Amino acid sequence: MRVHHLNTGTMCPHGQRFVNGAGSPFRRARLICHSLLLELPDGLALVDGGLGTGDLADPARLGRSWVWQAKPRLDPAEPALAQVRALGFDPRDVRHLILTHLDLDHAGCVPDFPWATVHVHARELAAAHARPTARERWRYVAAQLPDPARCHTYADGGDTWRGLDGVRALGDLHPDVLLVPLPGHTAGHCGVAVRSDHGWLFHAGDSFFFHGQIAPTPHAPLALRYFQRRADTDRPARRANQDRVRALALAHPDVRVFSGHDPVAFDAAVAAAAAR
Ligand SMILES: [Zn+2]
Repeated sequence: MRVHHLNTGTMCPHGQRFVNGAGSPFRRARLICHSLLLELPDGLALVDGGLGTGDLADPARLGRSWVWQAKPRLDPAEPALAQVRALGFDPRDVRHLILTHLDLDHAGCVPDFPWATVHVHARELAAAHARPTARERWRYVAAQLPDPARCHTYADGGDTWRGLDGVRALGDLHPDVLLVPLPGHTAGHCGVAVRSDHGWLFHAGDSFFFHGQIAPTPHAPLALRYFQRRADTDRPARRANQDRVRALALAHPDVRVFSGHDPVAFDAAVAAAAAR
């Protein structure tokens, strides 16, 4: 399976050193939204979708405080819809949106591909639509959320993949695309495992934020540690699942493990693809 790595939303918050772990405290940091475009035999699938064209047209819907803190670049070339077209594909061929979770910086693609089936964990869809607390109202943007009628939802369990519980995201037709429940950041947060032409990829969503968190001696910059705690829905579960992802990365160096917003892992994946 051919896989494209796309950055579907650059964010430039203050404090480069405290966000990216190096550089100046006075310069802007760089975070990205890591998406994958999968070329399946019967169409295309998008794994996570950053910010969408509707978000760029109306950034206020993302919430004033999020825009102020994250400082999204809002570049019209970045939404998945624009990048699918730039790669020469017909957006109508995007049949599936496989989402690690429904936070506003992952679900922006949903309104841009209204014909696509949305694959998401059942707990995530329920939490996003319920939006019971101020925190959920902040993180889930109503204008992005998929109508449950166009969703295929998943429960825990099913298959085992590299020691983690997973479930085939696109049915038996595509056994090499798995949703791996990793709750904690949100109620139904998942990772997505994909077998590409060049080996397994594991998109760990927001189960960790910085490549150093899955190193043998885990570490992360101050601002990312703060953000991670503030965004937790279930801290013990988030910690346990981050440990599982680290164990996966250390035990299976053949798997390319990356998270949703780390520019270092994104640049490495793009460079590896360009070198082939
Ligand atoms: Zn995120």
